[in-house]
Amino acid sequence: MPKPLLVMKFGGTSVGSPEAVRRAAELAAHAAADFRVVVVASAMSKVTDLLLDTLEQGERGDETAVEANLQALLDKHMAASAELVPSERRPAVEARLRELLDRYGRIARGMLLLRERPPRSVDEAVSTGEKLSTVLLAETLEAAGVPAQAVDSAELIVTDDLFGSASPLMEETRAKASARLGPLLADGVLPVATGFNGATAKGVPTTLGRGGSDFSAAILAAALDADQLWIWTDVDGILTGDPRVISDARVLPEVTYNEAAELAYAGAKVLHQRTLAPLIDKEIPVWIKNTFRPERPGTRIGPHAGERMGVRAITSLPKVSLISIEAVSFTQSGAQLMSRALAAAVRAKVDVLMLSRSSFRQNFCMLVRTAEVEAVLESLRDELALELDHGYVHPIEIDHSVGLVAAVGEGMRGTPGLAGRLFTAISQHSINIIAIAQGSSELTIAVVVRQDQLEEAVRAIHSECGLGSAVDVA
Ligand code: ADP
Ligand code: ASP
Ligand code: MG
Repeated sequence: MPKPLLVMKFGGTSVGSPEAVRRAAELAAHAAADFRVVVVASAMSKVTDLLLDTLEQGERGDETAVEANLQALLDKHMAASAELVPSERRPAVEARLRELLDRYGRIARGMLLLRERPPRSVDEAVSTGEKLSTVLLAETLEAAGVPAQAVDSAELIVTDDLFGSASPLMEETRAKASARLGPLLADGVLPVATGFNGATAKGVPTTLGRGGSDFSAAILAAALDADQLWIWTDVDGILTGDPRVISDARVLPEVTYNEAAELAYAGAKVLHQRTLAPLIDKEIPVWIKNTFRPERPGTRIGPHAGERMGVRAITSLPKVSLISIEAVSFTQSGAQLMSRALAAAVRAKVDVLMLSRSSFRQNFCMLVRTAEVEAVLESLRDELALELDHGYVHPIEIDHSVGLVAAVGEGMRGTPGLAGRLFTAISQHSINIIAIAQGSSELTIAVVVRQDQLEEAVRAIHSECGLGSAVDVA
C-alpha cells in the first residue's frame, strides 16, 4: 500500500523569509514520513504586489521605478538563496533565479517600450514570484536531505484563457498533473509546485486570481485524488472574525465546506473564494494551520462540523459597490428588468454578490466588487440602452461607499429570531442598514452598510452572537 497522499500549501508569509522557508521545509519533511507529499507554494510575501507594481510602472513609462523594482526582486531572492542554499549548489540556483528574473525583466521592459500592459503578458510575468519561491523551497528541502523538485504548475494545471482569473479544466488537469507528478512521487521525490498559475491547453500561461495559490492546491488535491489538503498560513485557523478587525476572535475547530466557502466568498481572506469547489465532491478534508505555531490544532474543513446552533463567524467585504436600477413606471415589469440586468452581469463575467428587490417600486439593487463596476456598467448600459435612452428606466445609480457584512453558519436555520437580533445589534450602534439579503439556505445573512461603519457593524454582530467569549450563546 502506498502512503496516503497529502497536498500542503504554504502561503506568502509561510515562505516570506529564509527563516519561514526553513520552517516550511521542516514541516514538509516531517509530513513526508507518513505521507506522499506534494507542496504548493505562494510567492514570498509582497513579491506579487511588487511584480504587479513593476508592470504598472512599465505601462506608465517610469523606467527608474522598473529598474529599481527589478533590482529589489533580485536582491531579495539572492539574499534568501545565500541563507538557504549550501555553497556547492548556490551557483546553479543563483543562475536559475537570475534566469527567471531576466525573463520577467524582458516582459516588464517590453511594457515600458510599448506603454501597454496586455493581460496575457501580465499573467506570464506575474507567476515569476512563485517560480522563484519554489526553487528556494525545493533547494531547502534538498539541503535537508529530502529529494525535491520545483515544478511550474503551467505544466500541471490546464485552464481556460480568462487571464487574471482563469478556471481549471479538471479532466485535462488530472491527466497532466498525474503524468508529471506521478513518476516523481513514485521515485520518492517531493514536488514543490508553483501556486497561482496554470496554462491553457495550448500552453499559454494564465493565473487563477489574487490569493489563488489556495485554489491551486485544491485543484491539485482533487486532480491527484489526495487524501488531505493542509493549508499553512499565518493564523491559527479560520477565526470567528478577521483578527485585524476583531481583537477577541476565536479559532473555529471545525467548519463545513459550505460555511468556509461562504466565508471566503464574503471576504475572509484566509481562503481564496474558489478553493473548496474542487474538493467537495470527493470530500477531501482540509486543514488550515499556522506555519509559525504548528502545534496548534488548526481548523478542519469537511462535509460536517458537529452539532451547533447559530452563527459560526462574521466576515466583511469593504470594496464593494451598490448598483440601483429603477423603472420609471410601475407598469413596467421590474422582474423582467432584473433578469435582464443579471444576464448582463453574467455576460460581463461579474459576480453579483447580493441582490435585493422592492416589488412595488419596481427597483432593485445589486452588489458587485468595486473593481468590477466598470465592466458590469458597460454591459448594463448595453443591455438597457433603449430604456435608458427613452427614459423608461431612471439613470443607473452607483454607491461606492458601502460595505457588506455577513454572518455565516449552518446552524442559523435552527435559530429563530436570529436575523432580528443581528439587525437590532447593528441599529443599537446607530448603523444604517442599506440592504439585506438572506439566501433560502439560511447559511448567510448579508447586510449592506456604509463603508465607514463596516468594522463597527462587524464588531457589533460578533459580540451579539457571543463569538468572542468562551461560551457560545448564539
Ligand atoms: P496566505 O499568504 O498564507 O495565503 P493570507 O494573508 O492570504 O495568507 O490569509 C491569512 C489572513 O487572512 C490572516 O492573516 C488574517 O489576517 C486574514 N483573515 C481574514 N479573515 C479571517 C478569518 N475569519 N479567519 C482567519 N484569518 C482571517
Ligand atoms: N502570490 C499570489 C498573490 O499574492 C497568490 C497567492 O499568494 O495565493 O496573489
Ligand atoms: Mg492567501
